[in-house]
Amino acid sequence: MEQTDNFAYLLPFIFLVFGAIFLIADRWSDGSARYWGMGYISAAIGFAFPILAYALPLPAQAVFSNAFFFVAFFLYGHALLVRFRRPTLLLPRLAFAVAAFALVCWLIVGMEDLRSQLAVGDTSLAILLAIAVVAVWRFAKSPIDRLLVIMPSLVVLETAVRVTVLLASTSAGSFESLDQFLSSEYAFLMQVAASIVGFIMALTVLGTVVADVITGHRRAAEHDPLTDLLNRRGFEQAVPKNGGAGFPAGAVIVGDIDHFKQVNDRFGHAAGDHVILGFADALRSSLTSASAIARFGGEEFVAFLPAVSLADAAQKAERARMAFEEMNWREHGIDGSITASFGVAMTAPGDHFVRDAIVRADACLYIAKNSGRNQVTTEVSRPPEGPPPLRIVS
Ligand code: GH3
Ligand code: MG
Ligand code: MG
Repeated sequence: MEQTDNFAYLLPFIFLVFGAIFLIADRWSDGSARYWGMGYISAAIGFAFPILAYALPLPAQAVFSNAFFFVAFFLYGHALLVRFRRPTLLLPRLAFAVAAFALVCWLIVGMEDLRSQLAVGDTSLAILLAIAVVAVWRFAKSPIDRLLVIMPSLVVLETAVRVTVLLASTSAGSFESLDQFLSSEYAFLMQVAASIVGFIMALTVLGTVVADVITGHRRAAEHDPLTDLLNRRGFEQAVPKNGGAGFPAGAVIVGDIDHFKQVNDRFGHAAGDHVILGFADALRSSLTSASAIARFGGEEFVAFLPAVSLADAAQKAERARMAFEEMNWREHGIDGSITASFGVAMTAPGDHFVRDAIVRADACLYIAKNSGRNQVTTEVSRPPEGPPPLRIVS
């Protein structure tokens, strides 16, 4: 059957290409792409083995093909578990794979029972994958992650259907019925279906790798590499910037380390970096997780606290101020304590951007600096809504 032959060549080639792409993409992935890559290459060899090693006796071909498929499915499961940061269940999965493979070898070589071998082999592969699918199922949250667990589930389902049909349409011990079945149009269509599911699973894996790369770059573009807080761009993304009804009510805290230039000058730039890290920690530990905390540059930090009162925000700024002042810098060669000043302001109904509130918080910070530093200054009176009234000079 010519179409079968063409197909037999094409499938391992496609799987090989996907495997190579995943191995290359591994440098941007969370470590799972490597296992998908090795898995797809192993499956490609499994598919190609009967073509490459046609000179070998049939049982030997079957044993080797099976070995590569067991490795492939073991690695698919491993990739899923790594991707979702679950325990890799290495020993139990390995023990199951080895035992099932030994049984398959015995059925091929010892029993010469091709029918049972096909049924046991495919069922074991499906179980090997199903163990990982069950372990990661409830951890798939994003749409692409859901697809990533749905596709292997389809592989498991498709295998179950294939094995059932094989067992139903052939009879035990009858080589003719098996031979007839394997060379039937129906068996060929099953093979095509299996390949399509494998192909779509590869596309899904590719999708997750691409999504990971994009997410990684996007995250890097929106975060400060030193403190891992948001940067200015990330802050603007995190806080809605449009005016009107959607504009969030909340408070803005602006913080700045006192006499930081002297810290750098006396103890060096590296020690200064540790102080910046410490300040970021003080903010993180003092503000709620709903806050957007950003390093706007140098030693200037801005935080937006949604739905809090001025008194609440001032209390949190005070907590950050104290936490920072109490930090010990001896391990970084700095003696004495370092302090910071804060300005706190509320967003106001007349604001169009959170930047308007930052400007007011900055003015408070300026007052804090000029009043001796190491303190929190809050805006006491809100600016009037809308433009200020015209003063008529007569
Ligand atoms: P003030 O109390 O008025 O805030 O004085 P200051 O010295 O803290 O303020 P100034 O703005 O004059 O100095 C900020 C210093 O921060 C100058 C700059 O060298 C330093 N700086 C900016 N970015 C970094 C950084 O990433 N690492 C380190 N170590 N220093 C930085
Ligand atoms: Mg400063
Ligand atoms: Mg400064």
